[in-house]
Amino acid sequence: MEIRIAENCGFCYGVKRAVAMAQKTAENDFTSYTLGPIIHNPQVVQSLADDGVRAVNSLEEIPDGQVIIRSHGVGPAIYKEAKDKGLDVVDATCPHVKKAQQDAKSVVDDNMTLVILGEKKHPEVISINLWAGNKGIIVESEKDAEIIPFVENMGVVVQTTFSQFKFQSIIGILEKKTKNLKVFKTICTATQERQNSAVELAKEVNLMIVIGGKNSGNTNRLAEVCRDVGCTTYHIETAAELEVAWFQGVQTVGVTAGASTPDWIIKEVIETMNEFEELLTAQANWDEDLKKGSVVEGTVAQVEDER
Ligand code: SF4
Repeated sequence: MEIRIAENCGFCYGVKRAVAMAQKTAENDFTSYTLGPIIHNPQVVQSLADDGVRAVNSLEEIPDGQVIIRSHGVGPAIYKEAKDKGLDVVDATCPHVKKAQQDAKSVVDDNMTLVILGEKKHPEVISINLWAGNKGIIVESEKDAEIIPFVENMGVVVQTTFSQFKFQSIIGILEKKTKNLKVFKTICTATQERQNSAVELAKEVNLMIVIGGKNSGNTNRLAEVCRDVGCTTYHIETAAELEVAWFQGVQTVGVTAGASTPDWIIKEVIETMNEFEELLTAQANWDEDLKKGSVVEGTVAQVEDER
């Protein structure tokens, strides 16, 4: 079984930066908190908690010390509230998300109708909309775009992890909904690169393993684009979820990982797949020997013992 790893996968610039900033706060004397999990990866969040950087759900839970704003960003009210409480703010909002927030604000400031392409409940989309005074129309699908009424001027901002394929298709619909369409293509290159690499690989292999948080938007999208090209795809968070039966008779396996998946998890998954391969090869050899009749009774127990 050949294991091939996508050319672009794993931690992106914004996540690396946010995790490094959070790890750095663990070194000082303040108590540090992240407002929500720093990234959508439960294993990384747990590892930071072990170092004393706690994830909380609201500023009310923070008595004093430092608050880290995660890569998805927050609305302007949070900065003010944190300042009023005397908290030290460490802003780990990804610069790409910051740009999308500013673009959304500029659309509203220019009196255009704002459309945000993205998941309605995703924290990044919520933060982008908050910078635009919550005036955006959130569009998740072609169906949502179809029901938007005709407007004179429309500005479109996109969730950084949005599927580029879906983006093209929705823009095609929005072009017919306005006289003047201004598109800010705020999909970040890290997402595009990971999706392109995943699609290329999925076309060439028998099976794709996508690694990353089940709550990670960009990882879910990687699994989606692999399935869209007709490749059998499993989305896992850790090596513990792998099942040996998935690899039975498989010649080539592709591996990719979301932008919030650390290298050590990818490494563990590959190590486990290599162990599975050894097991399947041993099993195949055993079956072959049985067919040839070269295995005699008595050695069965011996081999089982060895396992
Ligand atoms: Fe930033 Fe892109 Fe990474 Fe999101 S995927 S954190 S926008 S670099």
